[in-house]
Amino acid sequence: MKRFLPTALILVSLLALAGCGAKKFEAGTYQGGAPGIHGKDVVVEVTVDSKEIKDIKILENHETPGLSDAAFDRIPAAILKQQDLNVDGVSGATYTSNAIIGAVTMALEAAGADIASLTSGKKAEADTVAAATEVLNADIVIIGAGGAGLSAAVSAHQNGASVIVLEKMPQVGGNTIISGSAYNAVDPSRQEPEGIEDSVDKHYEQTFNGGDQLGTPEMVRTLVENSYPTLQWLESLGMEFKPHVFTVLGGLWPRAHKPVMPLGTGYLKTYTDYISAHSDEITVLTDTKVNEIYLEEGRAEVVNATGPNGTVVAAGHKAVIIATGGFGADIEKREKYNQIWPSLRNIGTTNHPGATGDGLAMAEKIGAELIGLEHIQLLPMGDPVTGSLSGNIEQSVENRIFINKEGKRFVDEGERRDVMTRALFDQTDEFMWIVLDAHNYPTMDTKNNFNESIQELVDQDRALMADTLEELAAKMEVPAAELVAAVEEFNAAVESGGPDAFGRTLFEHKIDTPPYFAGGRKPTVHHTMGGIRINTKAQVLDKDGNIIPGLYAAGETTGGIHGANRLGGNALVDINVFGKIAGENAAAETASH
Ligand code: ADP
Repeated sequence: MKRFLPTALILVSLLALAGCGAKKFEAGTYQGGAPGIHGKDVVVEVTVDSKEIKDIKILENHETPGLSDAAFDRIPAAILKQQDLNVDGVSGATYTSNAIIGAVTMALEAAGADIASLTSGKKAEADTVAAATEVLNADIVIIGAGGAGLSAAVSAHQNGASVIVLEKMPQVGGNTIISGSAYNAVDPSRQEPEGIEDSVDKHYEQTFNGGDQLGTPEMVRTLVENSYPTLQWLESLGMEFKPHVFTVLGGLWPRAHKPVMPLGTGYLKTYTDYISAHSDEITVLTDTKVNEIYLEEGRAEVVNATGPNGTVVAAGHKAVIIATGGFGADIEKREKYNQIWPSLRNIGTTNHPGATGDGLAMAEKIGAELIGLEHIQLLPMGDPVTGSLSGNIEQSVENRIFINKEGKRFVDEGERRDVMTRALFDQTDEFMWIVLDAHNYPTMDTKNNFNESIQELVDQDRALMADTLEELAAKMEVPAAELVAAVEEFNAAVESGGPDAFGRTLFEHKIDTPPYFAGGRKPTVHHTMGGIRINTKAQVLDKDGNIIPGLYAAGETTGGIHGANRLGGNALVDINVFGKIAGENAAAETASH
């Protein structure tokens, strides 16, 4: 500790004191706006008197529901409390946080504030609350409130258990809420009317072979056989899927179901509606990071966590379920386990910042076996700046092509995700354009999978639009003759039904209807296939294949299902099928005492 304040600091402090009583604002109510995650403004109304910010209201926003709630709750509150704009963004909602701060800044400028004096302060420290230990008890403790954790919570409760869910982030949802949300299931009610032949065996073969036969056969079987019944379970909880199935990127077959709500928000609403209706028996704590799981007499039971007010100790007298997701956002872990790709240090990710693989070390410490950690999935579909899936203009595999900087196609665009991404790494600047036409966007209001309209994307220069292919090529800065030739060849294959020169067999419409669109994409880290080894009951196994009593795991934190490559549309199946199974079996355990 310094005993004397430096002179400069004393001077600044004296000046600040002298200014204490001075007028800071023109009293009144002011509005300001700043762009949020989709480029549209978050608009706020700020009320000030001559000395203080009195109130901040959010008047308008186009942020993704669920993802941004914590930022709307906390950022205005922090600014009001601190009377300063130098507040930390809410983790996982950085764009929204910055938009709110930007909008408030604009309103305060209008109020005549000296913004520099409002941003110079030290960042507010988190509230210092005396470290307290909160002790919680339930039948089941679940670590992580993404899709796997929350589906497990619902199914455990349906099977008679009381549940505590601990989530480290300020909001629930994990990667699930920002996922593409496609759900593969063999579903004659939707597939037969469209003339699509399918079977559970075909889903099995494609999943197993698509992962280089490295998945565990009985785990793959459990996944595909439970896929449709689990979709019906979600529907019974109120989840809505669109009537048509489609082929999702790297999904290999038209069996993907698209929720009515955007991204993964439909799944989250389904779980949280159920949880809210049973809040007496299901407790969800956010901002509570689990650090360790303890065995009591050889049985997983107690977890230690750090919550907003200190230590939380939670006991699951029947079981503990690990549902902490993958490690796609943890650069060091990527570097440690990656054996297949070039260095992934400078590659973006589609993942939320909490995807740091916390469950792996916790499970390993109490004897669990970890498998397949080298299998890291990349997509060729990252936003060139952020790595996110936002701004992706593809609507279905059948109706778009990939074009490199030379204006040429370079891969079967219906291939496995690893095959397409590997091919993208070989292209100039590891960059490609998705090219498609008005079949995908019949109106400029038509939205992509990220709830962004094509008009918005064009306005933000995140998509290019042109009436002819030549004009589009000029905007893409690729040779027009090459692009035209590539599209002509593709259209000929659509007519013949393929396979074309790249081996592509998935086609629907020709690319022949203006306006034409192009959107740039780069490789991005998406999913980690490896993780905690479980059996078909979602029980965690040790290195000798023995069950660790009381310990379950589900979702992306587990390994052994997808092998070397996960099919598109199988992740939402995995987290729901094994989350539900984990919840059921955990609820059926006998309480320890
Ligand atoms: P899955 O798809 O397998 O459900 P998600 O990424 O959707 O995976 O959800 C995993 C959740 O677990 C995320 O919300 C993440 O923040 C949370 N989580 C990760 N590590 C911890 C931890 N140590 N304590 C509590 N929650 C955690």
